Parts: sequence; structure tokens; C-alpha cells
Amino acid sequence: MTQDYPSLQGMVCPVPLTHNERIVLGHGSGGKLMHDLITRHFLPYFDNPILQAGDDAGLLQFVFDGKNTLRLSFSTDSHVVTPLFFPGGDIGRLAVCGTVNDISMLGSQPLYLTAGFILEEGLEISVIERVLASMQAAATEAGVQIVAGDTKVVQKGKADQLYINTSGVGVLYPGVYISGANAQPGDIVILSGTIGDHGIAVLEARGELGFTSGVKSDVAPLNKIITDLLESGCRVHVLRDPTRGGLATTLNEIAHQSRICVFLDETSIPIKPEVMAACEMLGFDPLFIANEGKLVVIVHPDDAGRALEVMRANPYGEATRIIGRVQPEPGGRVLMKTVIGTTRVVETLSGELLPRIC
Ligand code: MG
Repeated sequence: MTQDYPSLQGMVCPVPLTHNERIVLGHGSGGKLMHDLITRHFLPYFDNPILQAGDDAGLLQFVFDGKNTLRLSFSTDSHVVTPLFFPGGDIGRLAVCGTVNDISMLGSQPLYLTAGFILEEGLEISVIERVLASMQAAATEAGVQIVAGDTKVVQKGKADQLYINTSGVGVLYPGVYISGANAQPGDIVILSGTIGDHGIAVLEARGELGFTSGVKSDVAPLNKIITDLLESGCRVHVLRDPTRGGLATTLNEIAHQSRICVFLDETSIPIKPEVMAACEMLGFDPLFIANEGKLVVIVHPDDAGRALEVMRANPYGEATRIIGRVQPEPGGRVLMKTVIGTTRVVETLSGELLPRIC
């Protein structure tokens, strides 16, 4: 049974009637459940060409003086991570870096952020101060300013200490056209470093590892590494940060948007031994674990060597590696040559792995 929902363009979009369904934690996973929730229930109401592009930020274009075009990148992100503080970071650094990074993925320089805080009654002011100091440090590092904000307080028990929403805007570099839909057959897939660090660090802070891994979250602003890459003249086709849902989900999104196949080489994907050990103990696949300071770059094959050089020169890209290539078929798929030489299909994250990871 379906019902027609109006879209903003006056078109109608048939979606299944699912009013009896309820939100489950898996809807926040960044994987298939979240994708279904958005496409079936949110897009029919908010549908427009900017959202349909399906990138990390919306591309806003304004023509002025009849001939010049101003292109802005605009994004928003809410943060509900628990606990608030974890090895390598905290909710404040995450809230600034998350939005800075999403804005940057269109090939833009982030400039201004807003910050909205939901505070639970009883939260210690000293905790808020620690988070604000961390946000200030991250904003300074990224070269952005927080120019508007909001605070709301809810009764004890109606929220878990503190949630933060950040939104932000940046300006695209001239002549740069980057999107998840721009990967071309023959392109090279580059990753800026090890995967799974953030997810494992947060699990450890929750006391769910059962041992001390020593792993720190990778949460970091990626805008400077992107600036270096674009200024080097490399023909960058896709930029994306593999956050919730992990590297596997991010590459599936790109394969889908560009209608190409990403072919990975498992032996070239960098994973810290302690992250691998934690994943083996918990039965997790590191390909699905969240990262907060890693960058996937898909680049013209002739520019891959230069891109590696530029990225490795940045402190957040020292362990940059080529992890695969783009091929025409099968479109919309991610395949991986495994360590034992077989070829495996890498799927999108389907259920819930780690709730409230960011
Ligand atoms: Mg992103």
C-alpha cells in the first residue's frame, strides 16, 4: 500500500505507508537503514536538486552582476557521542571537525560555523567549559570562526548530558568540481591513513573493550590537506570522509553515485594492529568502523603520485596509501581482492554496529 507524498517541486513520490514503524538505533548507523529512512521518509518532503546530489554538503550557487558565480558549500551535523570525552578527542572537537570536514568535501574552504547546544539539567558547568575550550582549539586549528549559536536546557533525564549541532558554510575553490558522482573508470582510490581508530577509541572509553588498546580517535580537521591537494593542481574527482558506516559504506555511496565499481586491494588498506586485534575480539569488520579524521580521495591516474606526495606531507596524511582503483563494471559495487587472493563483495553497513559513535 502506498500513498503519494508531495515534494517541494510539486511532484509526487510514492512511498510505502510505514506509520506503525518506529525509530531504532540502527537508523542512526550511517548505513542502509539510515539511507532508507532518509530516502523514504525525509526526501519526499524536502526533495530538491541540491539534496538529490547526495554529497556531504549542499552546493549553493548564486549569480551576481549578471556574470559572476559565487559557489558555497553548506552543511550541518549533530553530535550525540557517548561518553563526552574519549582518547584523542571529545564531543566538542568532533562537532567542529565533523562540519568542517563535510563542508570541505566539495573542494571548498570552510569559513564560518554555528553551534547549537542541548544541555541536560544538572550538567556541570566545568564539563561545558572543557567542551567549549576544545571547540575553540579545533576551530582555530581549522581556521574557522563560530559566529552564531544557541543553547537550550531540558529536564534531567530528557537528554544525556549534552548534544551539539554544528552547521557551517565555506567557499568553493574556483574551477573545482568535486562530487561523489565524479569518479571515472581508471581513477585511483587513495586513503589518508589507518581505519577504525575512532570507533575503537570510543568503545574503549565506554569500557566495552575489556582491555586497554591504547588507540586514540583520529578526529581532525581535514580542510588543510584538501587545500594542499587542490593547490597542487591534482585532478581530484571525489573527496569524502569515511565516518559512520566506515570505509565500506562510503565507497559504496561513491560507487552508487558514479555508477562505477571501486576495486580495493585488502593488503593495502592500513589498519593498526591494536585496532585489528580489538575488531577480531569483538567480531567487527574494520571496514565498517567509524573514522573522524580520514579522507578518501579519487583522483585522475596521472596525478596519483603527486597526490600521495602532497597528502603524506600533511600531519594528518602521513600514512596515505593507494587502496584501489575505479573500474567500469559492475556499476554500483565495491569489490575487494582479499589477503588470500579471492575477490569479495564489500557491502554497505546493513544493521547497527556502534550506536552514538559521533
Ligand atoms: Mg562526511
